[in-house]
Amino acid sequence: MPPPDAGPRILIRRLRQIMAEAGSGQERLDKIVKQIAYLMVAEVCSIYVRRQDGSLELFATEGLNPAAVHTTRMGRGEGLVGLIAERAEPVNLSEAQSHPAFSFRPETGEEVYHSFLGVPVIRNGQLLGVLVVQNRMQRHYDADEEEAMQTTAMVLAEHLASGDVAGAGGASVSLMHGRASLIRGQSLSEGIALGHVVLHEPRVVVTNLVADNLAAERTRLARAIRRLRRTIDAMLERRDLTGPGEHREVLETYRMYAHDAGWIRRIREALGAGLTAEAAVERVRNETRARMLRHAGDFWRERFRDLDDLSDRLLRVLAGREGTAAADKLPEDTILVARTMGPAELLDYDRTRLRGLVIEEGGLASHVAIVAKAIGIAAIGQAAGIVESVEGGDAVIIDAETGEVHLRPGQELIAAYSDKVRFRARRQQRYAGLRSRPALTRDGERISLKMNAGLIVDMPQLAESGADGIGLFRTELEFMIAARLPLKDKQTEIYRRILDEAGRRPVVFRSLDIGGDKLLPYLRHDQEENPALGWRALRMTLDRDGLLRTQVTALLRAASGRDLQIMFPMVSDIGEYEAACAVVARQQKVLARQGFAAPRSIALGAMLEVPAMLFDLDGLFRAADFVSIGSNDLLQYLFAADRSNPRVAKRYDPLSLPVLRVMTRVAEAAQQHGKPLTLCGELASRPLEAMALVGVGLRSISMAPAAIGPVKAMILSLDAGRLRRRIGELMEAGASDVRAELLQFAKDQNVELG
Ligand code: PEP
Ligand code: MG
Repeated sequence: MPPPDAGPRILIRRLRQIMAEAGSGQERLDKIVKQIAYLMVAEVCSIYVRRQDGSLELFATEGLNPAAVHTTRMGRGEGLVGLIAERAEPVNLSEAQSHPAFSFRPETGEEVYHSFLGVPVIRNGQLLGVLVVQNRMQRHYDADEEEAMQTTAMVLAEHLASGDVAGAGGASVSLMHGRASLIRGQSLSEGIALGHVVLHEPRVVVTNLVADNLAAERTRLARAIRRLRRTIDAMLERRDLTGPGEHREVLETYRMYAHDAGWIRRIREALGAGLTAEAAVERVRNETRARMLRHAGDFWRERFRDLDDLSDRLLRVLAGREGTAAADKLPEDTILVARTMGPAELLDYDRTRLRGLVIEEGGLASHVAIVAKAIGIAAIGQAAGIVESVEGGDAVIIDAETGEVHLRPGQELIAAYSDKVRFRARRQQRYAGLRSRPALTRDGERISLKMNAGLIVDMPQLAESGADGIGLFRTELEFMIAARLPLKDKQTEIYRRILDEAGRRPVVFRSLDIGGDKLLPYLRHDQEENPALGWRALRMTLDRDGLLRTQVTALLRAASGRDLQIMFPMVSDIGEYEAACAVVARQQKVLARQGFAAPRSIALGAMLEVPAMLFDLDGLFRAADFVSIGSNDLLQYLFAADRSNPRVAKRYDPLSLPVLRVMTRVAEAAQQHGKPLTLCGELASRPLEAMALVGVGLRSISMAPAAIGPVKAMILSLDAGRLRRRIGELMEAGASDVRAELLQFAKDQNVELG
C-alpha cells in the first residue's frame, strides 16, 4: 500500500487527470478502474452504475472477466453490490463468499477473490453506483483504505454525474438526476414558463478534497461553524420571515442542528482522516443522505433534509458563497427553485430574467406567493422534493395551471408547451390591442374595469393593462413584505409613489386588512380558533387605533392636493364604519392644525364582505360615499365555506341563484341611493362570472391586472340588455344550473369568454 495520507491524494490527482483526458466515457472509466486497482493494491476494481430500473450494471472492471462488462446486472438489493446500494453504506469483508448476501455470477470469474470492499457512489442524495475492490487473499481492508475508497467514490460521483459515461458500451446511462420527471405542487401564481433552473441557494461543488494542512482546515471549519451559527441567529432576529409555521420553523431547526454536537463531531472526524473542511462536510452529508435513503418515514426524512440543508449552508460559508443567486448573472429564462423564500428575497432578483418560481414549502397564503403574483411570474408551491431533484441549469417547465413541474422534459413536451406559450403570447397581444379601447358593451353600456394592486411593483401594470384605475389597493401587502412595521413617513412615501404612478387614474386605498390569514411577522397575533371570524381587518385597527391613525395620516399627507379614496374592510355594522370615518375626520383636523395641505377631495367607502350588512343595505349606502363588494369574503361567509381550505373553497358555485339575487339587491340599492358600487373580489377576474356581474347590474369591477384583457374582450362582445333579461328569467324560473345556462347564453350570443 502507498502511505495512507499519500493514497487519496495521488488517487484523486490521477483520477482528475484521467477525467480530463480525451477519449470516450468508457475508455476513461476503464482507465479509472485500472488506476484505482493499482493504487489500492487490489487485484480487482469494478464500477457498477445504477440504471433507471434500480438495477446495478457492471460498467467497468479491472480484474474480472471483461466480457461481463455491460452484461452483469445485479437486481435491486441483489448480492453485496445490491446491499451496498440499498443501505448506502460500505461493506468490508475478508471472506465475501460466506456472506449471506453474496451472489455468485459465474461470468465474472470472481470466485477466486475472497476479500471485498465496496462503497456507495452518492451525489446529491442520489445513489449513482457502487465502487468495489477485491483481493484473492483473505484480508481486512483497514480504516485508511476504506477512507481512501470513500474519497475516491466522491470524485467518481462527479464524473458519473457529468453524464460523460453515457454511451459506454453502446448503452446510455440515465442517472437519477438526468431523468425526466414530474413533480406536482400547488399553483401560487398563474402562468406557464419554460426555462432553466437557478437554485436560490446555490450548491457548492466540492472539488478540493484532500487537505494540505490539517491544522488550517480545522481552523477554517471552526470559523465557518461559528459564522453559520451567527448568521442563523441573525436571520431569526431579523424577523422579516414569512410568518410562523414556515420560514421560522425551518430556521429554528437549523439553529438546533448547528449546535448539534454529534454532527460537528462527525465532520471533525472526517477532517481528521485527511479531508479538506469542505470534503469533510460533504462526506458527512453523504452519510446523512444515505441514512435518509434508508428511512422511509416522513418524520426522519424531514429531519435529515434539514440537516442536509444546513450542510449546504456550511459549504457555502466555507466557499465564501453565502449570498443567494440574486447576485449572480442569471440566465434569461430563469426558473428559481428554493426550499423556502421570503418575499423580499424574491424582489432582490432581476425581474427581467425571471420566468418562474418553484418552492417546496410555500402555500397560497405565503407572502412570496403574493410577490410572485405581483411581478407576474408563474409560481408553484408545495413542490415536495424539488430542491434535491434538480441541478442548476436543468431544463424545466412549470405549468401553474395544473400545478405541474416537468423536470428535464423531453423534446415533445417542450414542443407542446412552446406552442402553448406562443398561443398565450398571441392572445396577450390581442388583449394589448384592446388596451386603449373603453369597455363598452355592444348595446353601449360603459363598464369600468379597474385593477387590484397592493405593491409598488404592481404599478407598471396599470398602464400595461389599460385599467381605468385601482379599485382595490391592498395596503397590507407592503406591510407583509417589510422587515418591520413601516412608520408614518415610510407609509407616506409609499402612498405618494402609488398616487404619482397612477397619475390621473383613481386609486382606492383599503385600510389595513390584517389578521385572519394575513399575519404580520413582526406583530404579535393571538392564536384564534376561527381566524376568519376573528379579530381582523377593521375590527383590529379600530381596537389598535394607533395603526389606523398612522395609516390615515400617511394617506392624507400623501394625497395632499389630490383626490383621496379610502375604504374599510370587513365592515360588520354601520357603527364601525362611522368610527373609522371619525378617525379620518380627527386626523384631518390634526393635520390642518399642523399646516398640511388637505387632499382636494376625500371619499370614504365600506367593503361589503359581511352578510349582516346585506340586511341593512339602506343604512350602508346612506352612510358610505361608496361601497365595494369583497366577494372573496362575502361568499365564504354566505356559503360558510373557508376560502383558504381547498376542500371546500370551490365546493359551491358562485354562479348560483342565491349569489345572483344578493348581487342584484346590492346593485339596486346602490342605484336607489345614487352611490358608486364596485366589486373587487376574484369573481370579477373570470370572464363568465364577470359577465354575470354585468348582467345583475354592476357597472364597475376590479380585478387582477391579467384579467382586464379577457374581461374587456367579453364586454365588447356582450349585449348587456339581453343578458339582463336572460338573468331575470333564470331567477324567476329558479334555474338549477345557472352556470350552464349562462354558458349557453354566451355561446348563442357569441360572447367571448377567453
Ligand atoms: C375580498 O374579500 O373579496 C377582497 C377583495 O378582499 P381580500 O381578498 O383582500 O380579503
Ligand atoms: Mg376581503
